[in-house]
Amino acid sequence: MKVKIRKKICSGLVAAAMMLTALPVNASAEMVEYSGNLPYSAKSAPFGKQGSEKLTGVVKSFYDQQLKFCKEVSEGKRTGTEFKLELTKKVSVSKLSEYWEEANNAFVYEYPEYSFWLTGSEISASYYDESKVISANINMVASNDYKGSKEKTVDSAKIKAAAANIKKGDKIAAKYEGKSDYEKIKGYCDEICALTEYNHAAAASMEGGNPWQIPWVFDGDPKTNVVCEGYAKAFYYLCKKGGVECFIAMGTANGGDHMWNIAIVDGKSFLVDITNTDGFDEDFEIDVDMPYVFLLKGAADSNENGCTVKTPEKKISWKEGGKSYTYTVYAADVKYIYDDNTRNLYSKSLLTVSKSDYTVHTHKGEGEYKTNGSYHWKNCKTCGGVASFASHKFDSKGVCEKCGAKKK
Ligand SMILES: [Zn+2]
Ligand SMILES: [Zn+2]
Repeated sequence: MKVKIRKKICSGLVAAAMMLTALPVNASAEMVEYSGNLPYSAKSAPFGKQGSEKLTGVVKSFYDQQLKFCKEVSEGKRTGTEFKLELTKKVSVSKLSEYWEEANNAFVYEYPEYSFWLTGSEISASYYDESKVISANINMVASNDYKGSKEKTVDSAKIKAAAANIKKGDKIAAKYEGKSDYEKIKGYCDEICALTEYNHAAAASMEGGNPWQIPWVFDGDPKTNVVCEGYAKAFYYLCKKGGVECFIAMGTANGGDHMWNIAIVDGKSFLVDITNTDGFDEDFEIDVDMPYVFLLKGAADSNENGCTVKTPEKKISWKEGGKSYTYTVYAADVKYIYDDNTRNLYSKSLLTVSKSDYTVHTHKGEGEYKTNGSYHWKNCKTCGGVASFASHKFDSKGVCEKCGAKKK
């Protein structure tokens, strides 16, 4: 008996579509309040800036406006899906779609809790000549699962029900408070695998909607199941709530479209693939959960383009009707390749996962401090990962109290 690593298919997050109108329209000014960015914590700081942290200027402003708007829709505060995009500087027609796509890409990777109702976005722009957009409207297009009865609206009751299910995820994250990052990650993996099964019908239909989203993981309903995108987003969401540094990665696994995660533990980045941990053999219709086989994996060949994860042979034994069964999951190589979006979003050092798997150890910085212009740290003797990472704390003479680095 042989278990193939199932081909997990993804919708490809949210695609942006563009509609342009060459009409002379006078734009009326509309103030948009910006909301905050993701926290830039000490755990991920050694890896540089990621996702929206890298955005600046007008792209950052598009990101902020989108986040604020989608958050309000997701929290049931508004049902209309269209908003006027404030243009903080002169933007050409061609740059408008480029900037919007960049902002949209960062948003959907970071906020599954505010993008679960989306299937894409549409831009309509007005201009006299293509070098300067006069005004632009964005329609955040709702998926069929959340569409309202009127055009460009969401169904308020369905949104509220989904938001309530996402809140159940918060409760799961809270259960692991005070545990180590490693214990949290293991716990989140167990919880997600217990809550959902792989949704083969959805993967075959490719229709999008709920099987790609987190409300169907956390709702506790055994009939609502997800594809890889749901697993990866649910894991990311629990990590975010629980204070574990985690990112969503997209690309291919052994050639099939796939979504998985990168998590940082003890100053190193690792691959996490909850979907492939939550196994099920279609031919024999049995669960072949492979606890932690795809959890915090390293790979000898890892680089900023991807890596090959090696999984060991595993025997699963059980008893049924007085008979004993043994099932063998053969050792496998799974080649993960990041797509362009993923490569653009994250730093090379984050994408290049650790050369070896995570091992449980006491993570402790030893020896001399290492420094750069802003930070100092020590390396762990056991794993080589970054430990004791902190910003310099300069005294009155401009010397860091901890590491002795001089202020430049
Ligand atoms: Zn260590
Ligand atoms: Zn220092």
